[in-house]
Amino acid sequence: MDELSAYGHQEFLSSLIDVAELYNNAPCGYCSISPNGIILKINHTLLNWLGYREDELIGQKFSVLLSKGGQMHFEMFFLPLASVEHSVKEMSYEINRKDGSSHPVLLNASVKLDDHQRITAINTVLTDNSARRQYEKDLIRSRQMAESERKRLQFMADFIPEIIFTATAKGKIDYLNARFFEYFKCDIKIPGSAFILSQFHPEDLKMLLKTWQESINLGKDLQVEIRLKNFSGGYEWHLLKAAKFITEGGEIANWFGSCANINDHVNALKKKDEFIDIASHELKTPITSLKAILQLLDRVKADPGNRMIPSLIEKANKNLRKVNILVDDLLNASQLAQGHLQLNKVQVNLFELIGDCVHHIRMENNYEILTEGDKDATVVADEGRIEQVVTNFISNAIKYAPDSKKIRVKICRLATSIRTEVIDFGQGIAAEKIPFLFDRYYQVENKGVKYTGLGLGLFICSEIIKKHGGKIGAESIQGEGSTFWFELPIQ
Ligand code: ADP
Repeated sequence: MDELSAYGHQEFLSSLIDVAELYNNAPCGYCSISPNGIILKINHTLLNWLGYREDELIGQKFSVLLSKGGQMHFEMFFLPLASVEHSVKEMSYEINRKDGSSHPVLLNASVKLDDHQRITAINTVLTDNSARRQYEKDLIRSRQMAESERKRLQFMADFIPEIIFTATAKGKIDYLNARFFEYFKCDIKIPGSAFILSQFHPEDLKMLLKTWQESINLGKDLQVEIRLKNFSGGYEWHLLKAAKFITEGGEIANWFGSCANINDHVNALKKKDEFIDIASHELKTPITSLKAILQLLDRVKADPGNRMIPSLIEKANKNLRKVNILVDDLLNASQLAQGHLQLNKVQVNLFELIGDCVHHIRMENNYEILTEGDKDATVVADEGRIEQVVTNFISNAIKYAPDSKKIRVKICRLATSIRTEVIDFGQGIAAEKIPFLFDRYYQVENKGVKYTGLGLGLFICSEIIKKHGGKIGAESIQGEGSTFWFELPIQ
């Protein structure tokens, strides 16, 4: 307080501030520019940033320190704005250093007026903008990253073969991936609940709505099997799942869901059940006969001369053979399905092999089987397996053409293979059924007539021929007959 009284309060405060020092070494650049843009005065901070001496810049146009684009902007916006508005706020420029590098700055300016209100100078403050620039760059990069991440997730969601959706905590669907629109051939951008609900099988809808409401109320994940309408109007089984996404506060934020088409799987299970039914039934018939025959034999066993015994034994053998064939087919099919078919290949004369098969079949049935074609045709093949295929073709011709007693077997040499055809003159097969004949468990439904069989014979034949590197097929004209053929490569 002694000093205050000695110098007077105002004087003392003024003595504390060195204006020139403040001007020159402030943490920002100062530059006074004439109304037409010539540098009049410049502080040390700015000279240090730029690497120039004062005499190199005084009298130069300020705009020469700016980039080409900056120069135009400065002349066309900054100077006119300063002269009209008398101040300029936060304009961003790149300012060039003497060494050629550039430095981001923000320009703020206010004008100095003379007594006649004419502008004598534009006092410009330049602040270092590199931190802000970096922040802006980081922000743009973060936005770009977020956008590309969004696109990546969108791509993934659209790419996977399942329908994907999200729903609000209350269960309102707010996102559906491309699969949804493809599956339902829907072009509504955001389909309403009326459209979505109309796609469910009416029998499943009530159960679904009840379960979904329960999930929403209790926060329980959802998993149900439902039928959805496909674009052709039929229904397909789907596995619908929804899992809740919980916020840090423990609230349900939304639901993520998927809907996978499990129609093939459900149908395969159904087919398997049907097949077990058929197989049990097919086995039961000969076993029941065997049981009855054994009971009869038991009754007459005390009388070895009984005339019924030979025919009972023959019948028992016939039924046993049926059981044997069925069990063999079951075993073969399951081995083939697991890829366990072993081939024991040797040089085989097809004409002789077919002759043997035909001989055995002829012995049992009252059929005219005609074998014709190349007698020298040989292939390298598993004799037993090829016999199995020929026997199957001929047995089918007998089974499915019971009214025609004639079967032709033809062997012909093609350019790279030997073709064997089994031709019957029976009822034939409808053209639309032919592509499925060699599928596992496939049986053509024959109106009125019930044939025994498991739908495995042709599947087994096809696997055997494929394993030999050959081809198999069938042609048929309804009412005229069928030709089943296979081709084995000549080696
Ligand atoms: P299955 O044990 O039922 O006979 P296959 O696989 O041998 O099984 O045959 C599949 C289906 O192909 C049969 O159900 C039958 O309807 C049809 N099929 C096979 N061969 C003939 C044929 N020669 N004529 C008419 N239909 C046939």
